[in-house]
Amino acid sequence: MEKNENIRCTVDQCRFNMQSEPFCGLDCIRVGTHESDPSDPRCVDCNSFEKRSDGIA
Ligand code: SF4
Repeated sequence: MEKNENIRCTVDQCRFNMQSEPFCGLDCIRVGTHESDPSDPRCVDCNSFEKRSDGIA
């Protein structure tokens, strides 16, 4: 997996995060919301997230 310099991300708990650098390793991601009327960044989510399973996080 190579870092995608177009997708910055600090979610180390995700298995697609580069960890050593704050970037995602996917070519593209899916972003959505869990709210009916999103109004700030806390309202949106990366729906490509998958929990890392190596025990680090
Ligand atoms: S899939 Fe989403 S949460 Fe995971 S590293 Fe990429 S941008 Fe971050």
